[in-house]
Amino acid sequence: MDFRFTEEQEQLRAVLCEFARRELLPHYAEWDRTGAFPRHLWREMGRLGLTGLRVSPQYGGSGADCVTTGIAAEEIARGDFNAAYAVMLNALLAEVLEAHASDAVRREWLAPMASGERLVAIAITEPGAGSDVANLAARAVRDGDRYIITGEKSGISLASVADAFVVFAKTQADAGARGVSAFLVPRETPGVEVHRYKDMGNVAIGRGSVFFDHVEVATDYRIGEENRAFYQLMKGFDLSRVLICLQCLGAAMQSLDETAEHVKRRHAFGRPLAQFQGVAFPLVEYYTKLEMIRWFSYRALWLRDRGLPHTKEASMCKWLGPQVAAQAIHESILLHGHYGYTKDLPLEQRLRDVIGLEIGDGTAQTQKIVIAREWLGKPYKPR
Ligand SMILES: Cc1cc2nc3c(=O)[nH]c(=O)nc-3n(C[C@H](O)[C@H](O)[C@H](O)COP(=O)(O)OP(=O)(O)OC[C@H]3O[C@@H](n4cnc5c(N)ncnc54)[C@H](O)[C@@H]3O)c2cc1C
Repeated sequence: MDFRFTEEQEQLRAVLCEFARRELLPHYAEWDRTGAFPRHLWREMGRLGLTGLRVSPQYGGSGADCVTTGIAAEEIARGDFNAAYAVMLNALLAEVLEAHASDAVRREWLAPMASGERLVAIAITEPGAGSDVANLAARAVRDGDRYIITGEKSGISLASVADAFVVFAKTQADAGARGVSAFLVPRETPGVEVHRYKDMGNVAIGRGSVFFDHVEVATDYRIGEENRAFYQLMKGFDLSRVLICLQCLGAAMQSLDETAEHVKRRHAFGRPLAQFQGVAFPLVEYYTKLEMIRWFSYRALWLRDRGLPHTKEASMCKWLGPQVAAQAIHESILLHGHYGYTKDLPLEQRLRDVIGLEIGDGTAQTQKIVIAREWLGKPYKPR
């Protein structure tokens, strides 16, 4: 066993820690208040290589391993939770496109994704199919050398700003998960329309619904084999689930660090707050929990880097990490007293943001179903 990060990984962490502190944290609230999407930040992160970590060098990325990608998600989220979507979503999509897209799509989309110039979103959820994700209503009907896609996708991150969508749609009705295919649909394709939500958090990532009204895409734009999207592409979520965990942990760790400084400085009853067990113990408890989840997350990424099974580990990270992160941020607000409740501090925004990813990429219940299936066996999969 070797729990050390490599020297390069430690260097990257130090660079990103500084970048997050200087460039991201001071503007974190700005995008929340204005609702503007900081496209320039994605380009800046592209220059730092963060949007192309899981894109291989032949397509302009760095081909970094999953552990390194986890470090980036964690450190960037310390400065700006929503900027870490650039690491997490791009890693997921880069893996999916590189493994399953046609040459034409890879050449056209991977390099601009890696540079942070173009944004790609993933559109699976529908008004009638979220946790019950195989129950899609969107249809893609083959017509010669193209597909015609019709349907509505809901809750999609980056919907209002993405340049393209990886869309899941049924290509074989009544075949459940065995009848779903995926397609890359450029946003400017006729028939694509977007409606942005007014979210309580994650405001900067412009979540929304995407409507596809008889949208035509060439067969070249199908990602993976027909009817096999669920089996081929869903493996990508074993990565995004761990990255989401680290993203939430980064925001929570930053909140604990800020709280630790606050309780050392602020006095009550003639001594620093930190000297009261009632203050130090909850902080220490969350610090302990977050550290343990953090190391478990890196282990999950380590397994993935070695091609070892890690589906249940990814789901463990996804349900526990965001939940404990939200609780730790809540506690940080309380330990700041009334000032913690204001919008002058980033704590309230972090709480709103982290709650979003308790839901996004599958709720805790969904993850527990996956873990039970993997651990107890398919016949005992909970309903
Ligand atoms: C911030 C954010 C970002 C997102 N980004 C994307 C994106 O980029 N692309 C995308 O496609 N989707 C995205 N989503 C959508 C997300 O994946 C879904 O919201 C999620 O999978 C849950 O689906 P649902 O909202 O339909 O809830 P439902 O499926 O209606 O579930 C409602 C509640 O019932 C529970 N529940 C459902 N079934 C069961 C069961 N069998 N047992 C126990 N409990 C159950 C759920 O856990 C949940 O608490 C995002 C959501 C959020 C909040």
